[in-house]
Amino acid sequence: MTASPRPAPEFPAWPQYSDEERTGLIRALEQGQWWRIGGSEVDSFEHEFASYHGADHALAVTNGTHALELALEVLGVGPGTEVVVPAFTFISSSQAAQRLGAVAVPVDVDPGTYNIDPAAAAAAITPRTKAIMPVHMAGLVADLDALAKLSADSGVPLLQDAAHAHGARWQGKRIGELGSVAAFSFQNGKLMTAGEGGAVLFPDEGLYEQGFLRHSCGRPRTDRGYFHRTSGSNFRLNEFSAGVLRAQLKRLDSQIDTRERRWPVLRELLAAIPGVVPQGGDDRADRNPHYMAMFRVPGIGEERRNSLVDELVARGLPAFAAFRAVYRTDAFWETGAPAETVDELAERCPHAEAITTDTVWLHHRTLLASEQDIRDTAAIVADAVAGL
Ligand SMILES: *Cc1c(COP(=O)(O)O)cnc(C)c1O
Repeated sequence: MTASPRPAPEFPAWPQYSDEERTGLIRALEQGQWWRIGGSEVDSFEHEFASYHGADHALAVTNGTHALELALEVLGVGPGTEVVVPAFTFISSSQAAQRLGAVAVPVDVDPGTYNIDPAAAAAAITPRTKAIMPVHMAGLVADLDALAKLSADSGVPLLQDAAHAHGARWQGKRIGELGSVAAFSFQNGKLMTAGEGGAVLFPDEGLYEQGFLRHSCGRPRTDRGYFHRTSGSNFRLNEFSAGVLRAQLKRLDSQIDTRERRWPVLRELLAAIPGVVPQGGDDRADRNPHYMAMFRVPGIGEERRNSLVDELVARGLPAFAAFRAVYRTDAFWETGAPAETVDELAERCPHAEAITTDTVWLHHRTLLASEQDIRDTAAIVADAVAGL
């Protein structure tokens, strides 16, 4: 392949911080209480995060995987139950269900949006299903109309895996206004971060109270006599992380605005490259926060896709291979797999199979760069794809 004639684009660093984060850390330090029960940073962050998303209750937790585990547990997921998950997602979506002793049932995704296919989800529901878990892939919101209808018709609650979707909106509604539980991650790469961290939004007080107890060893907030009311674990976020997250939340909106302006430009340039198909969105989603810039090269095959990623990285792009279908990992088969073979699952999930092998994603800091950098990015992709 020929070397790119242009210098590599300059993407902003990630994570970003300023005096706001610094002040938050020092505030927590000087408070002299470094855990949530004694301090006020986690409490304040929860109120700010809930109100930003239009939810009544937020619970901050240690990370996004624990957020999913806790949310599923509160929804009654445990041994003898099933959770419907997209086959194409980060492994935590299925692993959280399996960790609770439940069966994770992967279903296929839409080939354009990479989001869970509501018809496939409907077909997977049994009397044991306790939750349906859409993932808003790369921050492009899943079809929440069809999924809400499926949930209402089947009586099975939705749990939004919103690890990519801080600040998303669907038909004018924020994530917390949709009536379902939603789980977020604040891991280092996510759209707001404290290195690690997570949160759950609850639509009602009862679920929130259950969540609070279970995230703090089953212990009520004001308990002094060790009267642990439920089983649980310790998923409490510390005060330092919350101090940072309060600052991160303040910069989220302007970063989403930038990514929302950049993505249509990049998408159009990518779509013009022969053999390249960018991820498609849903017009009913009126705010997509854009966690990744994803595109497919249909038919490329895993090996050449991996070479393409290497080439893009060599030319300065933060490029990665897509997630593997969850059932294409050893981890998936250890516990809580459905009674199907990998071949049967693959046959049921042809789009997840294809996306696993033909998809590339670029880190969201690509979309925080200048419009010229976006043009240079697309030119590098075009060059690398032509050179395959
Ligand atoms: C990052 C991620 C998680 C897990 O979050 P952690 O904070 O890393 O535990 C869950 N689901 C999806 C889709 C993710 O991308």
